[in-house]
Amino acid sequence: MALTVQDVVAWIDKSNETIQTNKDYLTTLDQAIGDGDHGINVARGFQEAAAKIADGNYTSSADVLKDTAMTLMSKIGGASGPLFGTAFLKLSTAVKGNDPVDYATFTTGLKEAVNGIKQRGKAIEGEKTLVDVWSPMADFFSRQADFDGEKIAEEAKNAMEQTKTMTATKGRAAYFKERSDGHIDPGSASSCYIFKALADVIGG
Ligand code: ADP
Ligand code: MG
Ligand code: MG
Repeated sequence: MALTVQDVVAWIDKSNETIQTNKDYLTTLDQAIGDGDHGINVARGFQEAAAKIADGNYTSSADVLKDTAMTLMSKIGGASGPLFGTAFLKLSTAVKGNDPVDYATFTTGLKEAVNGIKQRGKAIEGEKTLVDVWSPMADFFSRQADFDGEKIAEEAKNAMEQTKTMTATKGRAAYFKERSDGHIDPGSASSCYIFKALADVIGG
């Protein structure tokens, strides 16, 4: 299969929906190993992004992803804003001129997104940040041959849960050192919702 412009719009809408539903949970996670605003931050960002793209009459996925990126970057506020912004901007660039977006192109976009996030946040895998969902997901897409909603959702959940066993060394959670052990990273949880939303759009 391939992602149509409507699929990409639905992806952002669905991401917004799940993030609004789980806003309080995301805040609870950030209260344990951060400053307790992650739910508020991403809920605001995705609300604005969904509103922004609802206004547009898009003919390319790259434009939807670019407007999403710009909105997330300016509206989220916290450390996660520029990182999610970078991820969607890299995806946008990678899929430009490729409608509908085929699996290989989307996979390349995810790899670019991971590189962008890592560069921007100066974090690598295993530091208990949202890199620990985006990076394994990009690897997972590389191993597979086509979109599979069920597997994507399962993989994202596993990646998010893996962050429980990690000790934070980047971002606010790093101040908690070993006390961050046993907690799910908030940015990994919101990232998991983004991949779950994609899985919902794909179905399967
Ligand atoms: P803030 O920490 O400024 O309050 P948020 O609460 O919105 O921002 O986001 C926190 C999340 O951002 C963390 O759970 C983590 O996943 C992610 N994060 C923070 N710093 C980094 C970094 N340097 N690299 C990658 N991700 C990071
Ligand atoms: Mg926070
Ligand atoms: Mg904050």
